Amino acid sequence: MSVLTLHHNFADQMPGFYVPWEREGFSDPTLIYFNDALAIELGLDPEKLKEKGAQLFSGNVLPEGAQPIAQVYAGHQFGGFSPQLGDGRAAMLGEVVDPQGQAWDLALKGSGRTVFSRGGDGRAAVAPVLREVLISHAMHHLGIPTTRALAAVATGEFVRREQMLPGAVLARTAASHIRVGTFSYFAAKGQAAELKQLMDYSISRHAPDAEKAEIPALALLDATSLKQAQLIAHWMSVGFIHGVMNTDNTTLSGETIDYGPCAFMDRFDPRTVYSSIDRQSRYAYGNQPGIGQWNLSRFAETLLFLVDSEQDKAVELATATLRAYSAHYGAAWLERFGAKVGIQASEEDRPLIQAYLDLLELHKVDFTQGFRRLSAVLRSGDVAVCGLFPSEASFAGWSEVWMERLQGDPDEIADALDRVNPIYIARNHRVEAALTAATGGDLGPFEELMEVLADPFTQREGLEDYEGPAPSEFDAEYQTFCGT
Ligand code: AMP
Ligand code: MG
Repeated sequence: MSVLTLHHNFADQMPGFYVPWEREGFSDPTLIYFNDALAIELGLDPEKLKEKGAQLFSGNVLPEGAQPIAQVYAGHQFGGFSPQLGDGRAAMLGEVVDPQGQAWDLALKGSGRTVFSRGGDGRAAVAPVLREVLISHAMHHLGIPTTRALAAVATGEFVRREQMLPGAVLARTAASHIRVGTFSYFAAKGQAAELKQLMDYSISRHAPDAEKAEIPALALLDATSLKQAQLIAHWMSVGFIHGVMNTDNTTLSGETIDYGPCAFMDRFDPRTVYSSIDRQSRYAYGNQPGIGQWNLSRFAETLLFLVDSEQDKAVELATATLRAYSAHYGAAWLERFGAKVGIQASEEDRPLIQAYLDLLELHKVDFTQGFRRLSAVLRSGDVAVCGLFPSEASFAGWSEVWMERLQGDPDEIADALDRVNPIYIARNHRVEAALTAATGGDLGPFEELMEVLADPFTQREGLEDYEGPAPSEFDAEYQTFCGT
């Protein structure tokens, strides 16, 4: 039996949605990361895969059954429509079907030029590839839906950016690579038959219940809006800032995709932006929920003719469905943030939660520690244990109301808090240090950080240095780059 056998259902069923991909090849690839746990989940043999990993995950050798393609899509980027994007540096090799029968796309990123590359070189550098490995790993272990990294390969070649940098290829899995922007591409060209086909394919893969609905297009819109609302609420609950929430990075699967200029927030401030290209702060932490709805509106526009043949009626129905996004988001937010303060929250609890966020903002407290310390306060029964605010009094007022609201055994609540409030996140200064070392050929800090992030909720001895934020000088100047 071969080490890796792929299916090619998308390639078979969806001609017209891609162009065949041809490899450029790399002369001297080496495997620098492999995700054993993911391989096992996929029903694959990690040891055998690793033996062939450098060739397979650089794209030099194709797995059995692979039918590599570059997918076409469009996207609203920072609010403006780009009618033609597509996989300019990626290749979808095919699907892995796991032991439960679920299909996962296997794609390479940084694997060379395609017809969609425009002026780009189709390549990626080691640092952005390992950044995606690190952050997607952190997200997965925080329980957040995400594409995942199966492997990373150093190509042995250099890519030209501001300076020459060592190149790499990422092998990632995804529930699919269908994006809102995939729909927009065909909508902009007025290709109704392709849109219907894409809708049917998306329904069968991501929202099977919608097939039986009275208006499948509306049911798909609602299912996607629920997934995006839940995803973004989950991001918000860990202080994650995606950084480039364009519609080509908004998936139908509800997975986080495309780890470019993303970062976890340190000191709580809803206006936080790290991305160097986001000059208008469009994708600031606090804007993410609203942007989610904006992106879904762009999705709805592509589906209108499938909702109803009468335009006015279609708009009315789609608008009502989009309005439900706010309710989906509100419910998901309440559940996540309620759990972060140890309560099963209902609407009346919103002010209590918001008051704590306001307090964190006012005193510039680290978001992650601000929530993590609550369990320690409960266990000790002493507000001084918090130790994050300038004075005990600033926390004590809120904590008195909070403790009144708690129901049940404090130790049990504290344990529950520790299961939802991470102690270790991918701290920006740690990520940068790991990537700088990796670019210089030292994978040690990267590997150590991966270990830490594999279990973000359990405090471990010797990892104290991973708990806190960077010195404030670092955070004030920290910027992330797209890495393209
Ligand atoms: P992203 O910012 O990664 O979502 O990419 C936006 C678009 O630019 C997509 O169509 C990518 O395929 C394309 N792109 C990004 N980097 C490169 C590159 N190095 N070479 C070719 N195309 C690229
Ligand atoms: Mg993208």
